[in-house]
Amino acid sequence: MSTANPETAAPRLDAARLRADFPILGVDVNGHPLVYLDSAATSQKPTAVLDAERDFLTHANAAVHRGAHTLAGEATDLFEDARATVAGFVGAAPEQLVWTSGATMGLNLIAYSIGNATLGRGPSRFALQPGDEIVTTAIEHHANLIPWQELAARTGAVLRHIPVRDDGTLDLEAAAEIIGERTRIVAFTHVSNVLGIVNPVAEIIALAQAHGALTVMDACQSAPHLPLDLPTLGVDLAVFSGHKMLGPYGVGGLYGRADVLEALPPFLTGGSMITTVSLDSAEYLPPPQRFEAGTQPIGPAIGLAAAVQYLDGVGLEQIHAHESALADRMADALRDIPGIRLLGDAAGVERVGLWSFDVDGVHAHDAGQYLDSLGIAVRVGHHCAAPLHRRFGITASVRASAALYNTEDDIEQFIDAVRGIRPYFG
Ligand code: PLP
Repeated sequence: MSTANPETAAPRLDAARLRADFPILGVDVNGHPLVYLDSAATSQKPTAVLDAERDFLTHANAAVHRGAHTLAGEATDLFEDARATVAGFVGAAPEQLVWTSGATMGLNLIAYSIGNATLGRGPSRFALQPGDEIVTTAIEHHANLIPWQELAARTGAVLRHIPVRDDGTLDLEAAAEIIGERTRIVAFTHVSNVLGIVNPVAEIIALAQAHGALTVMDACQSAPHLPLDLPTLGVDLAVFSGHKMLGPYGVGGLYGRADVLEALPPFLTGGSMITTVSLDSAEYLPPPQRFEAGTQPIGPAIGLAAAVQYLDGVGLEQIHAHESALADRMADALRDIPGIRLLGDAAGVERVGLWSFDVDGVHAHDAGQYLDSLGIAVRVGHHCAAPLHRRFGITASVRASAALYNTEDDIEQFIDAVRGIRPYFG
């Protein structure tokens, strides 16, 4: 159920008009017009993003920061303007935004940086002791789980998990028990890439802060769909992924509170992140450059700035209202189809335009192939959240995920097709 209040709801978004900005949405697949419902895996890119990256490569391409020539200066300006734009998109200052290659890289950067602090390589504020606790949740993408497993294994810290209830909501009463004096890090997703529920992240942050724990938020599935103001939310560190928010592949953002970034040692080291180097040692630049060793994804960063300008131009409130309405329509219809079990069908929660479901008697891969034969692109499998699927007693599900460019018509075609899955497989 959407929490959008009709009296205060933002003006409606015209998805049919927006589609003209996304050339790929005009293709046919298996003889049918494409219905693209796989945006949680990767979003489609508007012409403005393709043009921004191409214009940079055509007219201003040069390595940034170090050049004495004109193009290098122009490229540096474009690159740093892109940083300011993307930082502003999440309410942050430019120096709070570290470029990464994506969310997986951002989360590994944080975990390895804390590992380095534990080894005495840099400020010790975040150093872990054996028996310290790292808390994640039972609904995480593997990208926000395995780096913490590795960090725990390397440092002797203990990994604990906030459980998920049968309806897909996080068990906050259990969280209040689990997060305690030994908790040093609490890492959680804003929106699950399987359940689509917007988690009560302000409450989780408050629990963590009450015990002085560092908070790390995976904003991959919220950044393209909800207005985000990370400093106001009060989270210490957060990551998001360019290719899921209309941007190019190979670029992402790591947001950090200024004092937190300042107190973290680097993960990757090498060129572009140093002040002075001798044969035996090096002094590091302040953040964000301290975390940006080597040549950065300059063109993709400029493309990502165009992507967030596009999202802002449409309006995140409008996008959220539109996608919530599509999610409501999906759920209303799917609940009525015999043999379909929605994952995370909690009442009264805020959600993005995403549902995963199990089809009784039909493997998710078969269901996905059947939908594909009708031109409908969905994702099947465990969506990099194997423990969550096991929690619900399955190994795979079908996931339909909408974005701003999906229309009501897309959803109706998808629903009709889902009605045909079990009859088809007999
Ligand atoms: N976290 C979540 C919730 C995701 O959905 C994904 C991608 O599927 C990731 C992390 C990994 O993102 P990236 O592709 O940028 O590494």
